Amino acid sequence: MNTPKRPIYFDYNATTPVLPSVFEAMKPYFTEEFGNPSSLSHSYGWSANMAVEKAREQIASALHCRSKEVYFTSGATESNNLAILGLVTKLGNQEEGSAPHFITSQAEHKSVLEVCRLAQTRFGAEITIIDPDRFGQVSLKQIQQSVQPNTRLISVMMANNEIGTINPIAEIGKWAKSQNILFHTDCAQSFGKLPIHVEDMAIDILSLSGHKIYGPKGVGVLFVRSENPSVELLPLLSGGTQEHGIRPGTLNVPGIVGLGAATELALSDMSTESERLKALQKHLISGVLSQLPEATLNGHPTERLATNVSFSFSGLSADIFALGLNGLALSAGSACASGTSSPSHVLKAIGHSDRLARATVRFGLGRLTTFADIKLAIDKIVEMVVKSRQISIV
Ligand code: PMP
Repeated sequence: MNTPKRPIYFDYNATTPVLPSVFEAMKPYFTEEFGNPSSLSHSYGWSANMAVEKAREQIASALHCRSKEVYFTSGATESNNLAILGLVTKLGNQEEGSAPHFITSQAEHKSVLEVCRLAQTRFGAEITIIDPDRFGQVSLKQIQQSVQPNTRLISVMMANNEIGTINPIAEIGKWAKSQNILFHTDCAQSFGKLPIHVEDMAIDILSLSGHKIYGPKGVGVLFVRSENPSVELLPLLSGGTQEHGIRPGTLNVPGIVGLGAATELALSDMSTESERLKALQKHLISGVLSQLPEATLNGHPTERLATNVSFSFSGLSADIFALGLNGLALSAGSACASGTSSPSHVLKAIGHSDRLARATVRFGLGRLTTFADIKLAIDKIVEMVVKSRQISIV
């Protein structure tokens, strides 16, 4: 029996496959090297512990931080929760009677945006949510205009998962430091794709995820600065001393090993892979925009990830759209909010109507994307839009 041909994968912003060499590095830690890294009384534990510490160093070297500042979590969602709720609960303990103020943006991932709202409703924090510009970018000026005497945290993502826009992280970080305000950035989409330097960018807290960089799902990191300043967070969980008690629970050793290996791989060819992807991205953008007047590119024209292309098509119905793209595995309509029927909050934040937000597709480009894939995608999109014009005329 013939298995049906699978669609071409264009959803690398949602997740990536585990690369074979990453999988090979992980394998022994499921079977023969199965020890608990906290069992330091025998060689099974020592071996697992050594593997975890090696991965911690691989990530620290990628971020230019100390390895003791790397805390393993289950992914960027948990890291973002720990950063924001861990800080608001810690500050609540310290600052009786004065609510801390946090600044974030409407274009953040829900694991920042909704958690900030939770910090407000459950823990009494004051929150300012900045509207990004039409490209989805947040400016330092907007942050400066939102700051209050009680501002304790600014949380702005490095790069957006839906439209690829890159924020001026170093500029924001340096200014935040000059004001003694902590700066958190969600790097789930940028880690392994853009150079990151927590000192040069004055980042105090940073979240990242394994499955966006060809590592496994269910593993991530929270970087927490230990000096200048020493950031203190309260854990979200209790009942263990792992990760200095900040993130208790037995460590996911194979996942952590995979994240370390994927990090090393991402860094080894970051600039060549990024150049290759930029060429593919340019071809996809010009191929679609030159043939379809109803198409607009979402996100910043230059300050954008090479792995993301998001188009909206004015006048197109979302239903026709969803049906017409057989053969391409991409995110349509509500993009990262897929699984819900509401239009994406990011597309709404850049001024799209519900209808236009729904008539949006996101192409995620990645290591396995070829020039031939891009050519085929352009042909499919053009064919689909031309067909849908005919349907709407009838
Ligand atoms: N932040 C951003 C910007 C993301 O793109 C994602 C994944 N869609 C997350 C956070 C959540 O990451 P994870 O899947 O590791 O929880």
